[in-house]
Amino acid sequence: MAYYFSAIMMAHDKIRDTVEKLLHKKNPKSMFLARQLIFSVLPASHFVENYLYDNEGRLQKLEAFPMLKQIYDNVPQKMILKCSRKTLKSTLLSNFICLNLIRWNYFKMMYVGPQELTTKYFSSNYIPPRFDSPKVKELLIKGWFKNDVFEKILDDTHSSVLFRYCSDDATRTRGPAIDCVVYDEVQDIQYDQLSIIQETMAMSPYKREIFAGTPLDSTNTIHRIWLSSNQLEWMMKCTACNHWNSLTEGNEPLKMVRPHGLSCSKCGNVISSRNGEWVSTSPKESHLLTGYHLAQPILPHFNEDPKEWKEIYEKVHSGKNELKVVMNETFGLSYDIGSKPITQEELVKLCVLGPQFSDSEGKNLAILDKNKLKYTGVYTMGVDWGVSMAQSRTVATLGAMRPDGVYEVLMAKIYRGYDYEAHIHDIAAKANGVQAFCVSDSGPDPIRGIKLCELTNPQKSQLAAYRRTKMIQHYEPGTYDWRQNRWVLHRSDVISLVIRQLKAGKILFPQWSDVAEYMQDLLNVFIEVRDGMYGQELVYDHHPKQPDDAMHSLVFAVCAGYMAAGDMSLLSGRSSTAGPDIEA
Ligand SMILES: [Zn+2]
Repeated sequence: MAYYFSAIMMAHDKIRDTVEKLLHKKNPKSMFLARQLIFSVLPASHFVENYLYDNEGRLQKLEAFPMLKQIYDNVPQKMILKCSRKTLKSTLLSNFICLNLIRWNYFKMMYVGPQELTTKYFSSNYIPPRFDSPKVKELLIKGWFKNDVFEKILDDTHSSVLFRYCSDDATRTRGPAIDCVVYDEVQDIQYDQLSIIQETMAMSPYKREIFAGTPLDSTNTIHRIWLSSNQLEWMMKCTACNHWNSLTEGNEPLKMVRPHGLSCSKCGNVISSRNGEWVSTSPKESHLLTGYHLAQPILPHFNEDPKEWKEIYEKVHSGKNELKVVMNETFGLSYDIGSKPITQEELVKLCVLGPQFSDSEGKNLAILDKNKLKYTGVYTMGVDWGVSMAQSRTVATLGAMRPDGVYEVLMAKIYRGYDYEAHIHDIAAKANGVQAFCVSDSGPDPIRGIKLCELTNPQKSQLAAYRRTKMIQHYEPGTYDWRQNRWVLHRSDVISLVIRQLKAGKILFPQWSDVAEYMQDLLNVFIEVRDGMYGQELVYDHHPKQPDDAMHSLVFAVCAGYMAAGDMSLLSGRSSTAGPDIEA
């Protein structure tokens, strides 16, 4: 150990000597080599702590921000910082910009904020102070070539940063060729503008991006970017009960904020956030984007200082702040006013059945082949047709009942494109392969559902409709023929039923990577209590931009499964929100 240290020390001494000599020559080439030597040998966090000033003209200290060190030292090509308030986000971004300005030659960056005022503020109050330290001045001969509010160019390296703003119109960002875009307060930049801003990097071999902001709700830009990242959470193991804590919705973050300090949500024992590590919580395997979730309660700067901690505790538990504000601003978590009936963590646990197809064309059902003998012989298919004609999206769920009442989903498939005929034929073939009962949405236009009934067994196939009905379900025979028969379901009661079964682990799915998009539909559903015509009632809804088709396809499949299996107890009885029998 001692030898190791002395070897490092010696190496550092030698490097320092070489750097000194290079700096002494005072010519651009040797200065550039000196800077390269510093950056290639020392971690970036060392540079931040020993070279860069904060806004008050002091060297920055990362001692109370240990999780930031790892971010500085491993900056990925594309990164999102999902932050609560007061996480030094702007300092972080300005440090990155300064590091790049000093380190690289001819590196072109663009900072994009949502408003002119805040962009100007960042340009004037966050960038210049970094360069005030004498140690940075030592590294540069010439300094600024241009130091305007909307553009800064460092003469020594010819590296530059532009400052632009955009909320819903990215035209101001067009024009210059850029190597790296830094998006600040990205929650206030419209998602569809990002691709326009990204075009500025079309010619660059680097194409680096840093997104940073504070979450709002799950329809927001930052949440959508976060979902495509590897979602790194700071995981802390409780020394008392061995429970791994992270500041996430599934770990009950409110329980982690206790008067005596940051605590284990399971046993209440105080935990030290210094003993933690970044762990990916996205179930997907490959990611282009690295995501870090940073929030006040996990930073030692806040949780080790009694005064700061008291402030956090008050904000969280005094009742003076709405839960949404606490979730967004203190925990750095997205939050929807209508609450989510089920979490991603809960759904991931249900994906235990393995791959859904054994071939690449999606013909052979792998789980059916494997588990066939375990089933009761009751198979059901639920289908929800994409309503919008502009963007067709049909979801089919095929599953089997086990004797213990567990429903195994054999196939959860999303069909896209305009070839409706091919979709219907594929769905019918899958259903016919196991003689499944078929239930499909009758929808505003029942033609596709009727076609499916014709291609399968009309005796076992059924069109379904949601109505506000006294009963959870009943049959409504048609006046003329079977095409008008409807299986009528009470919408919120059957969705509640399926969510209860999911939470109880009674519906199982293929592996997550095969069904991630399907599951996102289930996560898009939120629950609200509304004042209706018949008093207060529970309503399941979804944002217009976020589909929930998979939920209905699953509801039809599962309810048909219980009916066919004769488990009427789950589907009989009066509705919880009885009203006159009219269309909802
Ligand atoms: Zn514990």
